[in-house]
Amino acid sequence: MSAESRSDALRDRFLRYVRVDTQSDESSSTNPSTLKQLDLLRMLQAELISIGCTDVVLDQFGYLSATVPATISDANSVPVVGFLAHVDTSPEITGTGVTPIVWRNYNGEVLSLPGDPSQKIDPRDSPELLDVIGHDLITSDGTTLLGADDKAGVAEIVTAAAYLLAHPEIPHGTLRLAFTPDEEIGRGTDHFDVAAFGADLAYTMDGSTAGTIEWETFCADSAVVEIRGRNVHPGYAKGKLVNSLKLAASLIDRLPKDRLSPETTEGREGYLHPVHIDGSVEQTRIKFIVRDFTRQGLLDAEDLLRQLAADLMSEEPRCRIDVIIQESYRNMGEILAQRMDIITKAEEAIRRAGLKPKQEPIRGGTDGARLTFAGLPTPNLFAGGHNFHSKREWVSVQDMDRAVETIVQLAQVWCGA
Ligand SMILES: [Zn+2]
Repeated sequence: MSAESRSDALRDRFLRYVRVDTQSDESSSTNPSTLKQLDLLRMLQAELISIGCTDVVLDQFGYLSATVPATISDANSVPVVGFLAHVDTSPEITGTGVTPIVWRNYNGEVLSLPGDPSQKIDPRDSPELLDVIGHDLITSDGTTLLGADDKAGVAEIVTAAAYLLAHPEIPHGTLRLAFTPDEEIGRGTDHFDVAAFGADLAYTMDGSTAGTIEWETFCADSAVVEIRGRNVHPGYAKGKLVNSLKLAASLIDRLPKDRLSPETTEGREGYLHPVHIDGSVEQTRIKFIVRDFTRQGLLDAEDLLRQLAADLMSEEPRCRIDVIIQESYRNMGEILAQRMDIITKAEEAIRRAGLKPKQEPIRGGTDGARLTFAGLPTPNLFAGGHNFHSKREWVSVQDMDRAVETIVQLAQVWCGA
């Protein structure tokens, strides 16, 4: 397989995968959350078998796993390395009827998407576009998301596997692959069987800009504030009615205006972010997400929320306010800091793929965070896509091919080649 035919195969795979609607659904309680994710998983299952993978298994929860057998004789002496990508796309933007468009030899101009010309991909909003002049870009037609998040990662892993299977002269140990559902609704690893997967370490291929390695995530909790007021017929309510809606509005108004919100923070700063409210006079619930890179920062933000609730209760003793905190995930950097070999080997592979490695903290989570705490250390590598969860998503074919090369090199780096 020549470099050119590998890149063509990669592009064609990606174009095939994005046409399959795999949107996940938060409100569903099934596994996977939507049956249509199985359309792509079954397609991948057949493809993995046809390229020569072994142990190809699609389990009852919608996890598809496979093996690329080792090509070295003493495979037991090197770690089993896993590669993961998620098949679902964001519930925020429709993924039905995705019509991908290939823009060959991109020249740096503003791209107006033909299905909805108001959707423009502009180097002024997306400065990374200036790094990919001359590349072939892929976008949607502007009426849907593209789904590069994370079908770029899926296509890269399958292409790297096909390449390694066609080139048994390339030395590597056992590689395990997994394609997972429901990452976008936070359930991507709920039923992932780390022991059955059998890898010593893994990489998710779910990051953005070419060359990036992400091994720190937020620490994340959710918080529900339950406000109970007192409802009375409004005609006879004087001195009796306590309106929980007004208390909720007051609580939200007391949040800091210049810090601790997504709209006022960046880099390593965290936030306390109201995301949903519903209620009536009697009772109102406000849902928050809480994020910080450290556990202490998370606790501080939660203490602030409790303090605001306590202040309100002391001003209006007839109400009752409960703050219920639930853990979401923790910063995987706490564990990966002890396994920096996993990061430095990825950096070596990225260099061999012709890129400059760049470490970045993720202002969010990844499936890898939960897997890392479940015993499978899993940082996140770039997949090449940009403008995730929007109709202006784009990816460069050449960047995707460098991700393929990174996987191929990483397989070799781990066996000392
Ligand atoms: Zn993703």
